Amino acid sequence: MDAKTRIDELKEILNEASTAYYVNDKPIMEDYEYDRLMNELIDLENKNPDLVTPDSPTHRIGGEVLSKFEKVVHPAKMMSLADAFSFDELKEFDKRVKSVAPNATYLCELKIDGLSVSLRYVDGILKLGATRGNGSVGENITHNVKTIKSVPLKLKDNKTLEVRGEIFMPKESFIKLNMEREANEEELFANCRNAAAGSVRQLDSKVAASRNLDAFLYYNLDQNVKTQEEALLSMKAMGFKVNPLYKHANSIDEVIDYINEMGEKRPELPYDIDGIVIKVNEMELHDIIGNTVKYPKWAIAYKFPPEEVKTKLTDIVFQVGRTGVITPVAIFKPVFVQGSLISKATLHNEDYIKEKDIYINDMVIIHKAGDVIPEVVKPVEEDRGDDIKPFVMIDTCPSCGSKLKRLPGEADYYCLNDFCKEKLVNELIHFSSKPAYNIDSLGDKLTEQLFEGGFITDVASIFRLKDKISDLVLLPGLGEKSISKLIDAIEESKKNNLDQLLFGLGIRHVGAKASKLICKKFKNMDGIMQATLEELTNIPDIGDAIATSLVEYMHDENNISLINQLKELGLNMEYDGIEIKESYFTNKKCVLTGTLSSMGRDEAKKIIESLGGVLSGSVSKKTDILILGADPGSKYDKAKELGIYIMEEPEFLAKINE
Ligand code: NAD
Repeated sequence: MDAKTRIDELKEILNEASTAYYVNDKPIMEDYEYDRLMNELIDLENKNPDLVTPDSPTHRIGGEVLSKFEKVVHPAKMMSLADAFSFDELKEFDKRVKSVAPNATYLCELKIDGLSVSLRYVDGILKLGATRGNGSVGENITHNVKTIKSVPLKLKDNKTLEVRGEIFMPKESFIKLNMEREANEEELFANCRNAAAGSVRQLDSKVAASRNLDAFLYYNLDQNVKTQEEALLSMKAMGFKVNPLYKHANSIDEVIDYINEMGEKRPELPYDIDGIVIKVNEMELHDIIGNTVKYPKWAIAYKFPPEEVKTKLTDIVFQVGRTGVITPVAIFKPVFVQGSLISKATLHNEDYIKEKDIYINDMVIIHKAGDVIPEVVKPVEEDRGDDIKPFVMIDTCPSCGSKLKRLPGEADYYCLNDFCKEKLVNELIHFSSKPAYNIDSLGDKLTEQLFEGGFITDVASIFRLKDKISDLVLLPGLGEKSISKLIDAIEESKKNNLDQLLFGLGIRHVGAKASKLICKKFKNMDGIMQATLEELTNIPDIGDAIATSLVEYMHDENNISLINQLKELGLNMEYDGIEIKESYFTNKKCVLTGTLSSMGRDEAKKIIESLGGVLSGSVSKKTDILILGADPGSKYDKAKELGIYIMEEPEFLAKINE
């Protein structure tokens, strides 16, 4: 791919992620991934300065300013900080600083993971609290800032000044808040930062007041002090809450020692930190060293690598999945990892536990794989005590007691009882989940409650709930309003596309992608029910396991009866995809590379799909055609190497017009 296309793509992805993060407080990607893509963009822009545009996210601080709040213009820009992800990058920073200010020393502070705030005091009275917004214009959140108990409403002396710092949610408040939200079936906050940002940007200050926010202050704009350390001390004397764990370092090596020390302390701190901020301590040097448009050159934020935490594994329990698969799950003493509290992690299967040599009561290292999914990295053998107990795989189902079976060639054990309670509940939870039939109001807890109460037993019974309204009202926690919302959502879902239904049925091996491919081919449920093994395996990407499982499912009397009931209940049984025409491209695996002069990439993709082609993002032995545009990327080389048919644009246009 050429640099311009990639730059445009990165700008679009990062702008979207940044709005989700800063404006909606609901991140759509992990910070680690965001930082990686941002670094790629910075790198590409450095190499291609002529492609840099003023709207690039590399120039912007924060997100947009929400119109629901009054706008506040900051008298001095609220800046971001440059990042360092390694000690080498810190040493580079030190070199740059020393080249203009050889006598500089550093003040190291914890980088609190919250959101920055600016507080304006007039004659000693708090007049304004504002978010950073886009750095120049923020949002007026005074009503919510006033609910933070550690923020003084009145200063000891009647000074007029502006201070800046970080509003955060202590870990304990975050845990409590998410527990309450879970009990109310409300969406959970991803981490302390998002919870703090979401709380501060509430119109009703009662909500913010109930969230137990706190604030550390670290800058005073209106002060005549010689060093950053003095600034912190004098802010403390004025009555502001200042984080006490800062440290003055004479050299970058002392900075690194402090980072290592704080890295170890991090799990025990009552608030979340994501790094250490290093500032040149001498104020007079700040002007000499200067700023870029986005951040000061006299400060840098060292970001901690993804966190690993030690805790005690107290038990291994077993879960029964919707397919009957039995999964051992590690239960450990709850620990805070990267902003959220975790207390369990999947151990996949017996072989995995044996391979990792994990015992019950072991001390184990936990991290978040890909920054998201809790994972047991390894046991700490030197901490092994006398109380360790070996893991023993069960041979009967923990839910229904039936004998478990290990299928040949598989590491997993299965409960084969079709009436196993846990299995049935999980089937129903899967059916209404987002990627499947997506019935919004039917959450996991409610599904369990309705199952326990005998209101739902299988997928069809979900669509008969509307006949049971008078009994549903008697269930605890379900008011008339929520029942009518639930029934409406269920009725509305009947229009869903057929692939959602097929995936929702939970047929073994038939995932979301396979469901779509099968629906595209057969167009309606009757066609799918009669599909043969051969017809199915002829679809690219549908292998023997999927085909066999689907055919078996569709020949089982109980399943046929279930589908017939769903038809009678009025669920959509047609696939409403793009009309697919038979063509040269039918069932051919196509990959696009480079820029086409006659159309955009999305348009080309749509055309190929409508002609029955199957698009893939990368070239492999299975690729049939590589469609070649100008300035192709590495896919072109790979296709040549593998002898894949390469179709240039004129031929592509001729073929689609045939
Ligand atoms: P930043 O959070 O990395 O650093 C700057 C901020 O640090 C300052 O604005 C200030 O609020 C804060 N800070 C905390 N303690 C401080 C202290 N003692 N002294 C000075 N400042 C202190 O920069 P940013 O521009 O706010 O945001 C970038 C971060 O946000 C990255 O970590 C990025 O991963 C994340 N982000 C994630 C997504 C996503 O989709 N996941 C999107 C956008 C941004």
